[in-house]
Amino acid sequence: MTEFILEHDRPNCIGCAACAAVNPKHWEMNEDGRSDIKGGKQREDGWQELEISEENLKMNKEAAEACPVNVIHLKKKENGEKLI
Ligand code: SF4
Repeated sequence: MTEFILEHDRPNCIGCAACAAVNPKHWEMNEDGRSDIKGGKQREDGWQELEISEENLKMNKEAAEACPVNVIHLKKKENGEKLI
């Protein structure tokens, strides 16, 4: 069940690779030097997003906390409440 939305403000990613190191299940580095959410949807505003289930929440929180420029966000699908 998808309960959360993982978001990546990709235009502001500095390509440090911390997210991919912490959570290689969901994050990988792209040839252009920025990271990608694996299987994520590319939005018109340049951000990426992916619906995730609760079991994948903790590891993405850890990726978000590891990001030095805070471009990884999580929100509840149900009401859009921002978690990080
Ligand atoms: S940790 Fe943040 S800045 Fe570093 S590659 Fe991942 S999203 Fe980009």
